[in-house]
Amino acid sequence: MNSMSEETEKVRCLIIGSGPAGYTAAIYAARADLKPVMYQGLQPGGQLTITTDVDNYPGYHDGIKGPEMMEDFKKQAIRFGTDVRYGIVTRVDFSKRPLIVESDDGKIIHAETVILATGASAMWLGLESEKLYMGQGVSGCATCDGFFYRGQDVAIVGGGDTAAEEATYLAKLCKKVYLIHRRNELRASKAMQHKVFNTPNIEMIWDSVAEEVLGDSSGVTGVRIRNVKSGKKKDLAVTGFFVAIGHSPNTETFKGQVELDPVGYVKTKPGTTRTSVEGVFACGDVQDHIYRQAITAAGTGCMAAIEAERFLSSVH
Ligand code: NAP
Repeated sequence: MNSMSEETEKVRCLIIGSGPAGYTAAIYAARADLKPVMYQGLQPGGQLTITTDVDNYPGYHDGIKGPEMMEDFKKQAIRFGTDVRYGIVTRVDFSKRPLIVESDDGKIIHAETVILATGASAMWLGLESEKLYMGQGVSGCATCDGFFYRGQDVAIVGGGDTAAEEATYLAKLCKKVYLIHRRNELRASKAMQHKVFNTPNIEMIWDSVAEEVLGDSSGVTGVRIRNVKSGKKKDLAVTGFFVAIGHSPNTETFKGQVELDPVGYVKTKPGTTRTSVEGVFACGDVQDHIYRQAITAAGTGCMAAIEAERFLSSVH
C-alpha cells in the first residue's frame, strides 16, 4: 500500500459545503446513523457569514447574526456526531461506485453517498468601498436585508430579473429606489420590466455604473455614479446599496461529473434532490437560483439526507 491508499477512507455519507443546506443535511444524516463527514469548503458557514442580522429565519424570534446562526447549525450537527472538517474537496470521480472524493488534506474518500451543498457566490462589482461597507449598508440580498431600510432611500445595481424583482420588493419598504443599470435596456423579462416601470418610487438610472460607495462611521451614505455615455458623475444620497448582478454556483469541481444546467447549477429531478448520478444529491443554492434563502436551503438539505438514507437502504 502506498501512502495515498493509506489515506483512503470509507464514508457512508459525505457532505460538501457548510451553509444551511450542508448543516441541515448533516443533522438529519447523523440522526439517521449515516455517520456523515462534512468538508466545510473555502468559506465555512457559507454566504450567511457575510450578512449581519437574519430576521426571517423561523425560530429566532429576536433575529440573529448570520455567523452566529451558522455556529448554531454547526454545533447541532456536531452534537449528533457529524465529523466536520475544515478543508476543501479538490476532485471528485462519480463515474463508478464507490464515489471518489479527494480533499486538500490528501485524503481519498470512498463514499456511498455524496451530498453537494457548495452554494453559490454572489457576484460583486469589485469596488474597494463595496468591500469596506459590506454588511454596513452594502448587501447582496434585498429579501434578506431590505427590511433594515424601511422608509429610507436605497440604490440597487443590475438589469436582470433579480435586480428587477429586488427593486420592486425594496420599493414596498423604502421611500425611493434607484435602479442603476449599465445599459439603456433591462435584461429582465418583459413582465418584470413592466412591474418596475409601473412602480412610482423606482427611478431608473440608465447607462450608468456605480463608481464608489460613499459612507462614514454610520455606514453607507450614498453612491457615486457615472454615466457611461456622457462621463458625467453624480452622487445619490442612499443608506442602502444593493448589488444584484448575478450569482455564480460553486460547481467548478463537479463539471463533467454531474449534469449541470447551462449556467452551471446542478440539475436535480423536480421535487427531489437527486442528481444525474445515483447516490449523489444536491441541496441549497448550488441547485437553486430562484429562492436562495437560508430556510429553503435548509429544507432541501433535509430532503437530501432523507433521500441519501433511502438510497442506502435500497442498495443494502
Ligand atoms: P442575470 O440575468 O445574469 O443579470 C445580471 C445583470 O447584471 C445584467 O443586467 C447585467 O448587465 C448586470 N451586470 C453583470 N455584471 C455587471 C457589472 N459588473 N456591473 C454592472 N452590471 C452588471 O442575473 P440575475 O438577474 O441574477 O438572473 C439569473 C437567472 O435567474 C436568470 O436566468 C433569471 O431569469 C433567473 N431569475 C428568474 C427570476 C424569476 O423568474 N422570478 C428571478 C430572479 C432570477 P447586462 O444586462 O448589461 O449584461
